[in-house]
Amino acid sequence: MDCIFCEIANGNIPGKTIYENDEVRVILDINPVSYGHALVLPKTHCDSLLECSEKTRNAVFEAAQKVGRHMEDVLGCDGINVLTNIREGAGQTVNHFHVHLIPRYTKKQKPD
Ligand code: 5GP
Ligand code: ZN
Repeated sequence: MDCIFCEIANGNIPGKTIYENDEVRVILDINPVSYGHALVLPKTHCDSLLECSEKTRNAVFEAAQKVGRHMEDVLGCDGINVLTNIREGAGQTVNHFHVHLIPRYTKKQKPD
């Protein structure tokens, strides 16, 4: 099965990695909706949150928490949307479970 996020998560195709451990890789989204928009990718394939194991689910959300805290500290964002799309009908375009971290900036100034 060809899966672009399996390839990126396992380091076979380059992605802009901001965090990695044995179970997940966190990359910057290629088409960010805000500065610092990141994706948490499990290294083991599952189609969506509904199919993943408890281990994968926990690893992904643990990384989301860690990176989210880092975003607050480093980017100075004013909030973060954490979301996962499930199936095409909800906007899922890559069928490999991933969680979006979208920093939000309500103040006028944004990082360069
Ligand atoms: P979805 O719509 O499935 O929830 O989100 C897929 C996300 O993956 C989109 O925000 C899209 O910009 C991003 N994306 C798709 N292909 C690539 C890629 O090859 N590299 C990176 N870094 N992001 C990608
Ligand atoms: Zn995959």
